[in-house]
Amino acid sequence: MRQTSQPDSVQELYPTVCPHRGEAIDETAEWHPEIQVRQLVDQEVPSRTIKTTEYRAHRCSCSHCGRLVRATFPAGVDGPVQFGPNLSAHVVYLRIKHLIPERRIVEILKVLSGVNMSSATVATVCRRQAEEVRPLAPALQRQVAQGEAPKHLDETGLSIFAKVMS
Ligand SMILES: [Zn+2]
Repeated sequence: MRQTSQPDSVQELYPTVCPHRGEAIDETAEWHPEIQVRQLVDQEVPSRTIKTTEYRAHRCSCSHCGRLVRATFPAGVDGPVQFGPNLSAHVVYLRIKHLIPERRIVEILKVLSGVNMSSATVATVCRRQAEEVRPLAPALQRQVAQGEAPKHLDETGLSIFAKVMS
């Protein structure tokens, strides 16, 4: 995926504290023209509006120690361009809850939302989300082993199963 030259909105990010000795960065810092740019492509579901937010991290030389300081990007904005949390949740919902194959998810996103996502990216998004919820697994396994029924158990599958079996 490539960065767009026409983001829907731009957020200028400035460092506020120098990490080297903790001094506050103020207008006396020497600001540099070079900025680092990352874009987040996201969509509110079920809205069809795709929004690209560009984050521009500025850097300066600290007026106290003279060292370079750069603004930090928001959590999850890790590369030049990536899909945001709403689109990721949409993909996981289709892939995991509805067991829709990656290639068909690519088509659904393209036809219904105008989003171009490769099937490799669909797989990557699902893998990343799985890694994020993995820390919850031991607690859930303990609850099941101790016979504590989850409070919001969806029994749809069970009743379908019972019907199939009867
Ligand atoms: Zn400093």
